[in-house]
Amino acid sequence: MAAPLLLTNIGQLLTLRSTTFKATGPLRGPELNDVGLVEEAAVLCLDGKIAAAGKQRDVLRAAKGKKPVELDCAGKVVLPGFVDSHTHPIFTAPRLADFEQRIAGASYEEIAAAGGGIRSSVAGVRKASVKELAEKALAAFEEMSRQGTTTVEAKSGYGLTTEAELKSLEAIRAAAAEWPGTVVPTLLGAHVVPKEFEGKPEKYVKEVCDKMIPQAAQRKLAAFVDIFIERGAFTLADAERVFEAAAKHGLGVRAHVCQLSGQEVWPLLRFHPASLDHLDWAADEDLPQLARRDTVATLLPGANFFLGLDRYPPARRLIEAGVPVALATDYNPGSSPTTSMPFVLTLACTQMRMTPAEAIAAATLNGAHALRLADRKGSLEPGKDADLALFDLDDYRELPYWVAARRCAATILKGRLLA
Ligand SMILES: [Zn+2]
Repeated sequence: MAAPLLLTNIGQLLTLRSTTFKATGPLRGPELNDVGLVEEAAVLCLDGKIAAAGKQRDVLRAAKGKKPVELDCAGKVVLPGFVDSHTHPIFTAPRLADFEQRIAGASYEEIAAAGGGIRSSVAGVRKASVKELAEKALAAFEEMSRQGTTTVEAKSGYGLTTEAELKSLEAIRAAAAEWPGTVVPTLLGAHVVPKEFEGKPEKYVKEVCDKMIPQAAQRKLAAFVDIFIERGAFTLADAERVFEAAAKHGLGVRAHVCQLSGQEVWPLLRFHPASLDHLDWAADEDLPQLARRDTVATLLPGANFFLGLDRYPPARRLIEAGVPVALATDYNPGSSPTTSMPFVLTLACTQMRMTPAEAIAAATLNGAHALRLADRKGSLEPGKDADLALFDLDDYRELPYWVAARRCAATILKGRLLA
């Protein structure tokens, strides 16, 4: 159990707990601009949970007799730890050949068609041991926590056989056991059709539905099932089969949609996906349906940046339509090799015209909603997990402002201080 911890002299505390409205689901529209700012604040953490967060004089009263370890925040900024709700940390090597080909002018899809792309990460994962994969994932989680991330969703998806996908999920579990943060595992068996099933995608989907999903569920290796819906990957009809299998085995669902081309997504909504991710090419007709649901639109601008795309996810259009949005790194070796949520916030502000407040809300509380963890994560309120990040900044708007800077001075994961 974590020792009692008291953060004092916080210049700006972002609680993500509004004083002007009571949000029951993910934040939408103008709600995203209310980060619950408290100045001259403190936070008391007991038994890994938030016991009190707010004005320092009130928190000090609550801390009386608890003998906490004190962390003097020297007037700086504290916010809930980032919830990075979309990552692919199970791979063995960077994709440097793809990188150079793209610099020379090839597109993501051309590289995939020539044998690069997702499939080129598969050989390494199939050969690797659980231990090797877990070490790489743990290194990524540690790098994330040094930048303020306390919860990570982690997908399999570079194994593409039942054995290698389950091995990938075991590696996620092994890495999670070594990391003080929180990991949410997702089975992404339907990432791309592997070579052995070329021309027979329905056979591969059957393998995902009849073997991977039941075994992952039975061994409690995954909380969610994900699928990449895109030309060259899987269709909407494939996704409906995969989601039916996931529902049958009690797993939640999420999907990669509209990253490189547009598709309609409304047929997926009957499965109550926790999130639909990317949405760069989201159709206007889908937005009113998304706005009525708690499915979170998770935007991943790191991929647009790294692929050198002109078009970014349409954050303003989604926010103005009332669709709840989250931000995540999409950490992966092909299209977004970054572990930095602060960098993603910079992209959201400069390329997608989100305000700093909206970006922070999307990276914390709405990320928690995207993982169905908002009862424990994403805001600083009594009873929630003590997941916080201290930044060496005077004003929270500096977080996306200082491009690619590392200003995270301390991270607290379930009450444990990582300085
Ligand atoms: Zn992804």
